[in-house]
Order: sequence, then C-alpha cells, then structure tokens
Amino acid sequence: DKKTVIITGASSGLGLAAAKELAATGDWYVIMACRDFQKAEKAAKEAGMFEDSYEVLHCDLASNRSVRHFVDAFHALGRPLDALVCNAAVYFPNAHKPGIFLPGLFAGEGPRYSADGHELSFAANYLGHFLLCKLLLEDLKRSTVKPARCIILGTVTATVNGAELGGMIPPIAHVGNFEGLEKGMKAPVSMLDAHEFNGAKAYKDSKVCDVMLMKELHRRYHNETGIVFTSLYPGCIAETGLFREHYPLFQHLFPAFHKSVTKAYVSQEEAGKRLAACVSDERYATSGSYYSWGGEAGTGGSGGKDAVENKDKELDWFMNYGSFRTLSIDEIGGEAADDARCRKLWDLSERLVQAA
Ligand code: NDP
Repeated sequence: DKKTVIITGASSGLGLAAAKELAATGDWYVIMACRDFQKAEKAAKEAGMFEDSYEVLHCDLASNRSVRHFVDAFHALGRPLDALVCNAAVYFPNAHKPGIFLPGLFAGEGPRYSADGHELSFAANYLGHFLLCKLLLEDLKRSTVKPARCIILGTVTATVNGAELGGMIPPIAHVGNFEGLEKGMKAPVSMLDAHEFNGAKAYKDSKVCDVMLMKELHRRYHNETGIVFTSLYPGCIAETGLFREHYPLFQHLFPAFHKSVTKAYVSQEEAGKRLAACVSDERYATSGSYYSWGGEAGTGGSGGKDAVENKDKELDWFMNYGSFRTLSIDEIGGEAADDARCRKLWDLSERLVQAA
C-alpha cells in the first residue's frame, strides 16, 4: 500500500513540484490541500500526475472553518497519514500602510484579513497550519510508517540565523514579544509586534512563526510520539507564484540576479526534489532540524546533491549560500531561538483558533 502525504498549497510552485516528485515514486499517495480546486486539478494533470496517485481536497488556510472541514473530509477517506507538509503561503511585498503612494512603487494598500479577521499572511502562512498540525497530530501518531513526519517551510530571509545576510535584508523580521498577537491580530492590529503594517515584513514574521511552530511541536510531541518535525529552506525558487504581486521589473530581474550574483537560484523541479527528500529520505529525519539549501549544483553551490553538512559558521554568507547545511534545534537562530517566545506563540495561537 502507498504511504499518504498531505501537502498544502500544492497547486503551484514548490508544493506542486514536490507532489509530482512524490507521486512519481509510486510509493506515495498525495493529498493536495488547496484553496482553488479547479486550479489544483488542472495543475496536477498538466504536471502529468497519474489519477491514482493524488487527490485534491479543498482547504483554505485563511479560514479556520475550512481547515476543520478539510480534516473531516480527509478522515472520511479512511486513509492513514504518514507525512504532513505545511507549504502554502502568500506574500504581499507591495503592501504598506494605507496612504503611502509613490507612483509605480508603492501600492499603498493596507493589510488584508482572513475569514476569521486575522491579518492574512499570518493567518494563511502560520495560523491555518498551526490548526492543521494540531488536528492531524493523532493521525500522524497512528502512522505505521516510522518515523511519520511533519515538515514546515521556512525561509532564509527570516529565520535561519539573525546574523546571516538573508536575515538582515530589510524589512527585518521582528515578532517582538507578540504584542499584536496578544491583542488578537485583528484590525486595526496587523503586525505581530503591533507596529505599523508592512506586507514584506508580515511575510517574514509569519515564517519566523512557522519555524517556532516546528520547534514547539518538536518539544511537546517528538519524544512522546516519535513524529519527526523539521523545517527547511529549499533555495531561492525565483519564478514561483510567491512573487506574483511584486513589481514586474522585480519579477523580471529577480531570477537572473539569483542565478548570476548570489548563486542561490534553484529550479522548481530541484526544489521539489529537496522537499520530497525531507518527506521520504532517511537523511532528513532528525526532529527539530532546519535543513538549509542554496543554489543548484553547478551554479556555484553544492546544492542538495551532495547533502554534506557544513557547520563552519565563519564563512562569509555569500560564499556559503550555495551550500547545504543542517541546523540542529539548538542552532536555529534569530527570534525563533527563544523557547519562551515559542511557548507564548503556541498559547496565544490556541486562544485564536478556539475563538474562531
Ligand atoms: P507559490 O505562490 O507558487 O505557492 C504557494 C501556494 O500556497 C499556492 O498553491 C497557493 O494557492 C497556496 N495558498 C496561498 N494561500 C492559501 C490559502 N489561504 N489556503 C490554501 N492554500 C493557499 O509559492 P512557492 O511555491 O514559492 O512557496 C511555497 C513555500 O515555499 C512557501 O511556504 C514559501 O514561504 C516557501 N519558500 C519559497 C521560496 C521561494 O524562493 N519561492 C524561498 C523560501 C521559502 P493558489 O495556487 O490558489 O494561489
């Protein structure tokens, strides 16, 4: 029998590439948890996925009710759950506080909110996944595949280590002491630190929360359940839908910049292989780890091909960007290093999903 993996946001980009990769092995049945059913079906067909290798189930992570419906629909299939991939995300790089308007540069658009009234990047990228993980934990626990896995996507621009260049590109992630979350993350509050709205920062903050979630899941449940909780940065997949709201000039130059300057560029196909490896390869099964890739092999970095651990923190970031390395749970830096804040995030999130 095939093993079952749920991948959120599998209708495009990295999620689709990993779904394709896992389905093609013949070992995995992929549940594509997507907000746009038609788009996901079409994407799976165009990717050449065989009909008996996947199923699309509706799931809008920006609605707690939809996440609960998705879990009910999944349970109705009567399948076991062997791996869960929290991949879906939105990014609003042009959204600043309302009122700023420089023609062609800033849309001046304010924050958007989820069905439950929470700021949308926080809701879709993090809170929906928090609820999903909680609701599916028992299923992962019952898996006969050892270890069952839960993988949550991170990003180099926020979480890996506050001291590295990726984390120092403004706007810098800052969840503070979750002052905004304490106030409920509903309008007029839009940022976790309760400061002024900034769409690019909201994305990075949500990704810090994703890594904190992985750490907290590991701390609470790994020993008791054996489930492996990990996070990863797959390299810079510069052509995905994530950048759909960026300026056209940026969309045009971004891939070339990362191919030639930072060497961090990775194709969707290669990134999909990296995520698929986190799901099924025994080399990526140490709970609490953060796996960080750089560019593709042959572009200046070692890529994922020779997954060699490189823990030499003294290397210049640019030189190091192309290489692969594993951060153990204690090496995860920046705000995500703070265990007290990880706990606080968990407690406040529980309150939000219970109230919604
Ligand atoms: P894409 O925009 O291509 O994919 C994002 C997916 O998330 C889409 O399938 C989208 O659905 C889905 N999604 C968005 N909102 C919701 C929602 N409310 N409910 C359900 N699904 C939703 O981006 P990527 O493939 O690049 O991103 C995938 C992951 O990789 C993200 O977590 C991102 O943070 C991470 N990542 C990406 C990097 C990159 O360079 N691209 C670098 C580092 C990390 P739809 O198709 O309907 O829009």
